[in-house]
Amino acid sequence: MSYWNSHIKENEEYVVLRHSINRFDGHVNGIRFREGYCVVVKGSRPYNTLKKLPLIKSSEEYPLIHLRSLKCIMRDKDLETIFGKDVYLQYMKVKTPIIKAEELIYKEEVYKEHIENGRCSFIKLNGEPCGLEAYTHSISKMCKLHILEDKEIISKLGYKIPDRELTRDEQKKYRARIFKRYDK
Ligand SMILES: [Zn+2]
Repeated sequence: MSYWNSHIKENEEYVVLRHSINRFDGHVNGIRFREGYCVVVKGSRPYNTLKKLPLIKSSEEYPLIHLRSLKCIMRDKDLETIFGKDVYLQYMKVKTPIIKAEELIYKEEVYKEHIENGRCSFIKLNGEPCGLEAYTHSISKMCKLHILEDKEIISKLGYKIPDRELTRDEQKKYRARIFKRYDK
């Protein structure tokens, strides 16, 4: 019987079981182990049989994504060769949202660090934060340039963003006026 040809049903879930022998390679009850791990459908007959074995029953159980920590998995496709096509397909299904969530957390951490390092909090159209130094007095941690472009801040200070291009001199005066009020 080739267990790997079976397809997982909607209410079924693959889990990763660990063998007590570290990095065990081989078969137990016809189930293949690689680097100490095998994949079975939770609650299935092979699962229940393996869970009764002393070398497996007390070991931890992992979600499918755990397979990415295996050294023999260099590329996702290796899962197909080692654990079968069905496991590979299920793995890809669970992997995508996990990777996306991890990327989001990473981005948030990078942004937090960016602010902690005294950089501007403004997010540009490309999704990247502004690289300029945040103005010391800015509560919203923005650089001088982005404070000047923020309609809300400018109008709170009693000014309006100029609707025409200012000359260099006018610009200088405008900035000085804004920041004089801003610092109060
Ligand atoms: Zn900025």
